Amino acid sequence: MFKPVLQDGHNRRVSYVRISVTDRCNLRCSYCSDPSFSFRDRAEILSYEEIIQLVRVLATLGVDKVRLTGGEPLVRRHLDSLITRIGEIAGISDISLTTNGVLLENLAHSLWHAGLRRINISLDTLDRQKFVRITGRDYFDRVRAGIETALAVGFSPVKINAVVMRGVNDDELLDFARLTLKYPLHIRFIEYMPIGRASTWSGAEVVTEAEMLERIAAGLGRLEPVAAASSGPARLYRIAGAPGRIGVIAAMSNHFCATCNRIRVTADGRLRPCLLSDNEFDLKGVLHGGGDFAKIAALVRQAVAGKSAAHEMACNAERKCARMMSTIGG
Ligand code: SAM
Repeated sequence: MFKPVLQDGHNRRVSYVRISVTDRCNLRCSYCSDPSFSFRDRAEILSYEEIIQLVRVLATLGVDKVRLTGGEPLVRRHLDSLITRIGEIAGISDISLTTNGVLLENLAHSLWHAGLRRINISLDTLDRQKFVRITGRDYFDRVRAGIETALAVGFSPVKINAVVMRGVNDDELLDFARLTLKYPLHIRFIEYMPIGRASTWSGAEVVTEAEMLERIAAGLGRLEPVAAASSGPARLYRIAGAPGRIGVIAAMSNHFCATCNRIRVTADGRLRPCLLSDNEFDLKGVLHGGGDFAKIAALVRQAVAGKSAAHEMACNAERKCARMMSTIGG
């Protein structure tokens, strides 16, 4: 029969949820984590049962795509069992994962067997020393091994997400782009967003999509636009003959709010209709103890109905949302 449709107040269909399974992370990226933040008690974090109940409700409303994120999702035990169970929920057709890759080498096979096929790995530098400076941890080799294992196991596509920050890693645009000449990787450059009051973000550090594309084309030749396989936020390009793709997520300079189809759920169970707005709805309260299907659905509908037309940072880039990305779920 007809698929259910969850629609917001601006006629956008919401079909995609990003769920943070933990606020904990094994890296301490300077721009993503707040040194004064203390992790929540286990009781405050959504249990796997609560996540499954939530996804069941979302699926009946019209959500068909789930991404698991964090914190660092792979630090939560038995993530593979959660993936298997989400995959069994009627109506869910796509599950993906965003990870920093530190634990991926050992977990890639079990994630694959659980049914995961798509994976995004965050990596902001190809330089080991710089990796230590950005993340506070000497795990570059582990991430590289994680990426190699993901490719060998057969995940497709393997996407590498790099947040481009002027003066930090923008000198590596070409090095990242060159990886697409050799590997079937999707390198996705992300514009640096003003997230987290504790962050040192400044507009001067944002490298826009236009500048990135110009610098890559100047160094490596013309970029051919490529049609995206799914309706994601990245615009895709290819260097002639390359097996990989180059994508840019221009959340600041060319935001894609008009086609936004997603909502987010933080590890402590707050539904955020927009990444860059602090408007949140307390799902944890209604999910507690199994949760009443109708109440959960009503809260989701209420949150989605009020989803803003466009994020506030598009109009006022100096404004930062309160939470750091590590506690929202990127
Ligand atoms: N630990 C996982 C990882 O590293 O992919 C998942 C969570 S992490 C918060 C998700 C993504 O958010 C990372 O790629 C990170 O670089 C990105 N991120 C954090 N703060 C950001 C910001 N201010 N602007 C753009 N992206 C940001």
